[in-house]
Amino acid sequence: MKQKRFILQESEIPRQWYNIQADMVNKPQPLIHPGTKQPIKAEDLFPLFNEECSRQEFNQTDRWIDIPEEVLEKYAYYRSTPLVRAYGLEEAIGTPAHIYFKNESVSPMGSHKLNSAIPQVYYCKKEGVKNVTTETGAGQWGASLSYAAKLFGLECAVYQVKISYEQKPYRRNIMQVFGAQVTPSPSMSTRAGKDILTKDPTHQGSLGTAISEAVELAQMTPDCKYTLGSVLNHVSLHQTVIGLEAEKQMAMAGEYPDVVIACFGGGSNFSGIAYPFMRHTICEGKKTRYIAAEPASCPKLTKGKFMYDFGDEAGYTPLIPMYSLGHDFKPSLIHAGGLRYHGAGAIVSQLRKDGYIEAVDIEQNDSFKAGVLFAKSEGIIPAPESCHAIAATINEALKCKETGEEKVILFNLSGHGLVDMSAYDQYLTGQLG
Ligand SMILES: *Cc1c(COP(=O)(O)O)cnc(C)c1O
Repeated sequence: MKQKRFILQESEIPRQWYNIQADMVNKPQPLIHPGTKQPIKAEDLFPLFNEECSRQEFNQTDRWIDIPEEVLEKYAYYRSTPLVRAYGLEEAIGTPAHIYFKNESVSPMGSHKLNSAIPQVYYCKKEGVKNVTTETGAGQWGASLSYAAKLFGLECAVYQVKISYEQKPYRRNIMQVFGAQVTPSPSMSTRAGKDILTKDPTHQGSLGTAISEAVELAQMTPDCKYTLGSVLNHVSLHQTVIGLEAEKQMAMAGEYPDVVIACFGGGSNFSGIAYPFMRHTICEGKKTRYIAAEPASCPKLTKGKFMYDFGDEAGYTPLIPMYSLGHDFKPSLIHAGGLRYHGAGAIVSQLRKDGYIEAVDIEQNDSFKAGVLFAKSEGIIPAPESCHAIAATINEALKCKETGEEKVILFNLSGHGLVDMSAYDQYLTGQLG
């Protein structure tokens, strides 16, 4: 029997996160305060975010950052995640390429997002914070934050975009199972929400309305902090456990990737799998390719421009130096909700500008076609977001089939799609354009 799965012992789980900022030749440009036009410092974020994550955000000197013991304990609930040689997919494609995937779908919430929710809530608790809040669209980040809050005994309030709250009840139910208070946004519970509803009582909500409400709640409530599940540097930092584990597991398999692929929303799972390998490219000149797979309907890395832009639709955040489609860009309602974000984050954008990162865009139908082929050959139904990484992987593997090259391709399976079967239903019944 072929050996397929590589798993690390608990003692081999990484003890430190990798901070690529320390190794970057050109550091990311500073975040800018939209009012004063001055660079933002860690202290400027303290009113909103916990202090440790604020400091991590701006840390350009420490290559390795210790993972707290309490966080490691919770990581051990589901880490290491398996690295799997996808023999079934290789056979289905008929490629000489060796395909591996890192299976982040085995986390309790079914995606990589818990890797950052756990440390964010832990630091809040350590700093005496009692409540955490956030916004969520489809609900993946909200679900992970709710569970992490439960693990550490904090209260959690999530503003969910109203239309998702009503049309996609299952992740809302997951958040509620873990005791989170879930409010459809816009709501009457904040001034921002009241203003929006007064103007338009039938407003269906957007990430913009939900962000404004969560930020207002964090600012108005004592002992309450706001959290984000992607885009920011400290989120990418926490996600490097994925790539650090994968590096050891690839060594167990006796291989090293020629190509590393992940889907791209705000960049956290891509950064997580790519940066630990990229350190060998930056520091030792290793010739690995890094491919970000984004949806054709939201192509910030392939078609966006490098600019200073707001991180949110409403224009509340600092200005971020990044590839962006413009903060008022309205992506179509694709099922890969986690990829519907207009920008790319500061580190990834600088690395793309400096030529380390390639990007491809994938049509929605092609992503589901790839996801179904993967499910049939590997037995796991991938999240609609992850289907983009699979489609990009298949494209690379098909090139190898033409040239006969035995390239080693590693992709990140960011999550499973078992709560997204209505999306598969639409694909299977031909309702996706
Ligand atoms: C949120 C999410 C994404 C996109 O977010 P990134 O920060 O770009 O990783 C991708 N896949 C899954 C399963 C998600 O939940």
